[in-house]
Amino acid sequence: MNIPRVSYPRIVIIGGGFAGISLARRLSKKEAQVVLLDKHNYHTFQPLLYQVSTGGLEPDSIAYPLRKILKNFPNVFFRMANVKEIDAENKVVKSDIGDLKFDYLVIATGSETNYFGNQSIEKHSMAMKSIPQSLNLRSLILENFEDALLTSDLDERNALMNFVIVGAGPTGVELAGALAEIKKGILPKDYPDLDTRLAQINLVQSGDRVLKEMSEKASKKAEDFLEELGVNIWKDLRVTGYDGKTVTTNTDVTFETATVVWAAGVKGATIKGLDAQDYIARGNRIVVNQFSQVKGFDTIFAVGDIACMQTEDFPQGYPMMAQPAIQQGKQLGDNLVRLIDCKPMKPFKYNDKGSMATVGRNKAVVDLESFKFQGVFAWFVWMFVHLFFLIGFRNRAVVFINWVYNYIRFDREARLIIRPYKKHHIVKSEVKKS
Ligand SMILES: Cc1cc2nc3c(=O)[nH]c(=O)nc-3n(C[C@H](O)[C@H](O)[C@H](O)COP(=O)(O)OP(=O)(O)OC[C@H]3O[C@@H](n4cnc5c(N)ncnc54)[C@H](O)[C@@H]3O)c2cc1C
Repeated sequence: MNIPRVSYPRIVIIGGGFAGISLARRLSKKEAQVVLLDKHNYHTFQPLLYQVSTGGLEPDSIAYPLRKILKNFPNVFFRMANVKEIDAENKVVKSDIGDLKFDYLVIATGSETNYFGNQSIEKHSMAMKSIPQSLNLRSLILENFEDALLTSDLDERNALMNFVIVGAGPTGVELAGALAEIKKGILPKDYPDLDTRLAQINLVQSGDRVLKEMSEKASKKAEDFLEELGVNIWKDLRVTGYDGKTVTTNTDVTFETATVVWAAGVKGATIKGLDAQDYIARGNRIVVNQFSQVKGFDTIFAVGDIACMQTEDFPQGYPMMAQPAIQQGKQLGDNLVRLIDCKPMKPFKYNDKGSMATVGRNKAVVDLESFKFQGVFAWFVWMFVHLFFLIGFRNRAVVFINWVYNYIRFDREARLIIRPYKKHHIVKSEVKKS
């Protein structure tokens, strides 16, 4: 990989997400050579992906160049590389740009969409885990309305304007809310010759409440907000298949739709070599101890979504959220310095700062340990927290200006089909032709 060997130990980090970045920052200017590998040359702020999908923000404002984040850290090297395999025994990482030896390895590869083995859903539904996927979704939503204008087949038109979002966690709720706002505020102006009242936003959840990781109060209020916006909430309903045209469920309920967004789960993004069952817990996450060491290894670590650190309070591991990833990254940085200095490492302790979700304009829910609140104030808190954690002054400024503009103008300017998305769904006209 053409990285000079120095006398300091080499720490290789796979993944420049929340965990990998906070770790690399912590190790800057320390007596170690740090090599950060990521298949993208940018960091993605995933919590705002849904705003890219719905034309509220341009993708550039939620991505940040990894090289810029690391530019003042002379001991940190970045290589854009897709890591394919880990040879733990020989301490080598194998990637599409070559092999690299390590003294310490940190896996911070995050998570990927979990289709729970359902191939029809994987093939035909849309995911929202990366910027390219969000742009695909943005194009598809807009293309659907363009197509709906062209067809004279009423069933086909309805299917094009029928959206099914599976999974009512924060991602599903936020996306459903944003789509409902588009239906109400933007579609009638953009498509005056289309009866956009026919557009349906369905949020399907296998459990009995939305935002099930949050308090009951937050769930209830989020449901009220969604209903106010006209979202159809389907609870206790499990989606079992989707052939590009019809969504089937575990009951008689079916949906004819051209768009299914799968937000029903994620699983650890493991890498060959460390994906054997010995290391893996529920959700395909790598089991680590309280120092983030992978089970059975002293010099291989995992942090963030990929890591399953089981504790009494969190027997399934910490939630797959930004805060545990950031905190684990920082703590591991300090621990690696201690380890190199032959000092004892300190166990990780999670500081739960609460959780939040927004449903739309002036509508959000916030759960803090001692205080739970909803509505306008929660919405401002949600915006402030997201702006605070965005990387880069430019991104914060651009997002802030966009939000102010969208708020005043009731608008989402980025509704552009820049890279058309051709989905292999079967619309009714194609069925009729064949
Ligand atoms: C749509 C959406 C909304 C979310 N909303 C919230 C929210 O509101 N609040 C919250 O706290 N959390 C939210 N999350 C979850 C949060 O984004 C994750 O918990 C967090 O990103 C985990 O950080 P990480 O560093 O472990 O992984 P990530 O941030 O996913 O980073 C992993 C990195 O590893 C790289 N990578 C993966 N595999 C390889 C490989 N083989 N080779 C090279 N590079 C690789 C990826 O390119 C990526 O840059 C959301 C997630 C999504 C998808």
